[in-house]
Amino acid sequence: MPKKYVMANFKMNKTNDEVVDYIDKLSSLTSDCDCQVVLCVPSISIPLAVQKVNEKDRDFIIACQNFNENDFGAFTGEINAEMVAGGGAGAVLIGHSERRNLFKEDDLLVNKKILKALKSGLICIFCLGESLFDKKNNLTEQVIINQLSKGLNSIYANELSHIVIAYEPVWAIGTGIVATEQEISQSICIIRNTLAKLYNEEIANNVTIVYGGSVNDVNCKDISKIKGVDGVLVGGASLIPEKFSKIAKAFCECKKTKNKK
Ligand code: PEP
Repeated sequence: MPKKYVMANFKMNKTNDEVVDYIDKLSSLTSDCDCQVVLCVPSISIPLAVQKVNEKDRDFIIACQNFNENDFGAFTGEINAEMVAGGGAGAVLIGHSERRNLFKEDDLLVNKKILKALKSGLICIFCLGESLFDKKNNLTEQVIINQLSKGLNSIYANELSHIVIAYEPVWAIGTGIVATEQEISQSICIIRNTLAKLYNEEIANNVTIVYGGSVNDVNCKDISKIKGVDGVLVGGASLIPEKFSKIAKAFCECKKTKNKK
């Protein structure tokens, strides 16, 4: 059975020293844990984080939270996908709602970034999900289908194994409100049905889909039991290694006791 993905998004938190200290602690706390840990750290910390993970002999994937879609040039303050990969990162977050909302990144840009990331050998953590407005106006299905199909434009079937889809309802991010089991299941079902139409049934069943939105060390057990959930993307609760390790452990235990889909 494939590993569950348990991913931390530090956002704009933690200095280099704090990232290194975190990996040290998380490494000890998860020594018996076999899920795939992914740490989305600030870009500046990527090389040090990779060094620490190697020193600890762990298979944690160090990921970037964003890059610029251009290859090179006059884009002061930006970094490209090649630099991210060259710094040792193995993955990148693309389409996070904070990038979409605060930095006005649209589906076209998300698609460009996914294409660049794949070209640079990075795993894409492709985030999508409806806003509160969408939810209140019964637009969830339409929004998910739209974001998914536009984001995956020109992506070949064989590239889907390098993409993790993070279903993150915007109204659940950082709010303490978790989507219900029914809401998560329904949205994941919409994602898999759309993938079956865009590609085929086998691909749809095998793509890794995680849930994100106010996951913590208490609700993680219930979330880990939801059918079709292959892991979680965690913001706030990932900042404390003791909490994040409990989330990781919930997904390890769950992997041993249930079949996937
Ligand atoms: C996120 O930033 O992707 C996220 C899910 O945040 P939180 O866990 O804090 O809701």
